[in-house]
Parts: sequence; structure tokens; C-alpha cells
Amino acid sequence: MNCPKCSSEKKIKSGFAKGRQRYKCKDCGYNYTVELKPAAKPDSIKKQALRLYLEGSGFRSIGRLLGVGNVSVLNRIRKFGKETRELNFESKETETVEVDEMHSCTGSKKLLSDMDCR
Ligand SMILES: [Zn+2]
Repeated sequence: MNCPKCSSEKKIKSGFAKGRQRYKCKDCGYNYTVELKPAAKPDSIKKQALRLYLEGSGFRSIGRLLGVGNVSVLNRIRKFGKETRELNFESKETETVEVDEMHSCTGSKKLLSDMDCR
């Protein structure tokens, strides 16, 4: 956040005002406050939103149901949901590979399971 008056980056912290960080511009002396980032949404809401997302709910209805209208929150959930989907997909693949290796006792797992294979 630069000075809203002269756009200078040079500023000094001068305490807090009503929960906001207060800055003083070093160039023009203008005092201004910057709104602190809102506290992160509780995990439960994030999980609920994520579950709704994975069940195929649209972001409009998720936002309406949970009262999260914030686009950045929804974007984060969407990103997180995408990663979770990818993780689920990967873990399913890993399971298949592990089953195969248990039958054949070959591959990269041989070293780890050498004892069991003999
Ligand atoms: Zn300034």
C-alpha cells in the first residue's frame, strides 16, 4: 500500500487505529490506514464449502449457503478443491500400483518388501 496522496512507497508505521495499521508517509507526511487482512474463515466453513464444491454445487449457491460472498475465498476453495480432486485421483492410482506389486513382488518396492517376498 503506497501513500494514497502522493503514491510514495516510503512510509513508517505509526501504530494502529481501529484495528487498522496506521502509516505515515515519509514524503508528504500524510497519515493513512490500511485495513488488515480479514481473519481466515474458520476451517469448518472451508470444509463445508469444499464438500459442497466436490458435490457439484455452484459457487453462487455455496456462497449463499455459507455466507461467503468473498470472491477470493471462493477462488481459494476452488483451487483447494481442485488439488483435493487431484490428490484423490493420485491416491487411487497408488492403491492400484501397490496391489500389483504385492502380487508380483517386483519393482521399486522390492527392496522394502524383500523380507516378505522370500
Ligand atoms: Zn505521501
